[in-house]
Amino acid sequence: MVDMTEPIQWAVAIHGGAGVIARTMPPEAARVRMERLQEVVSNASAALAAGTAALDVVEQAVAELEEIPEFNAGRGAVLTSEGTHELEAAIMDGSSGDCGAVCLVREIRHPIHLARRVLETSPHVLLAGATAEAMGEDLERVSNEWFTTPLRREQWQQWKDTASAADARGPATVGAVARDHSGRLAAATSTGGRTGKPPGRIGDTPTIGAGTWADDRCAVSGTGHGEAFMACVAGHAVAARMKLQGKALSEAVQEVVGDCLPPGSGGLVAVDDQGRIEMPFNCEGMYRGAADATGRSEVAIWR
Ligand code: ASP
Repeated sequence: MVDMTEPIQWAVAIHGGAGVIARTMPPEAARVRMERLQEVVSNASAALAAGTAALDVVEQAVAELEEIPEFNAGRGAVLTSEGTHELEAAIMDGSSGDCGAVCLVREIRHPIHLARRVLETSPHVLLAGATAEAMGEDLERVSNEWFTTPLRREQWQQWKDTASAADARGPATVGAVARDHSGRLAAATSTGGRTGKPPGRIGDTPTIGAGTWADDRCAVSGTGHGEAFMACVAGHAVAARMKLQGKALSEAVQEVVGDCLPPGSGGLVAVDDQGRIEMPFNCEGMYRGAADATGRSEVAIWR
């Protein structure tokens, strides 16, 4: 039995995007995504159990998610209206309040490592384009086309042919939150944004407080319609309810996802200082996974 008066020693939650995820998805496609999520959860769990810091764990989890072409971050990122990739990422250390974020990234293989670099070495929080990429001279570079997969090209073509934003509601973005054995919290998020976004459009992922937030009470990583997350400053809205209104994480996330964000706009993963995990969403599904020191370990797509 877990003694709930004691914090859960470590906990981690990840996501691979929320949105319109058809239940008619071929079972094989669902299985592959679940297996990939499980691998990332297992690796993060092993690292936390071994005493790795939350900040390092969320960075590594997101780097692994960026490598999975089924998810919209790193390789497999969606395409802009011009048929190119503009990547975004952010990372935040809840114990220090330090954060780093990048946007309009075109050639760095792991945008999350670049965001960590900004956190570690820059007096600024958010850097864009060439200025951001110059921070990671030693980080692996790839051509912009390297990020494209046949599926993303097909989705882009559909978007172009129908001139509709229908796909812009598709699942996107990856993220991770963690509490480590010292009680430190951290959050990290990475995305290609939305299919057909105009070049230069920046979403909630690298906007600290909107799609990514961590402090000493909670860590939050969001996914969904970035403009909605920015308009309600979703990540910080969760933290503010806890800090200023004394609400529990479960209540805070339900208010933000259920009341502040428009129905169908997305979801988030969050963990509090007690190691309690929440993964609410207000759309069809959210690729997600969670584990903690009590032995919990799960991955899911739909409700
Ligand atoms: N929030 C991301 C964006 O708007 C995409 C997503 O999570 O679906 O850029």
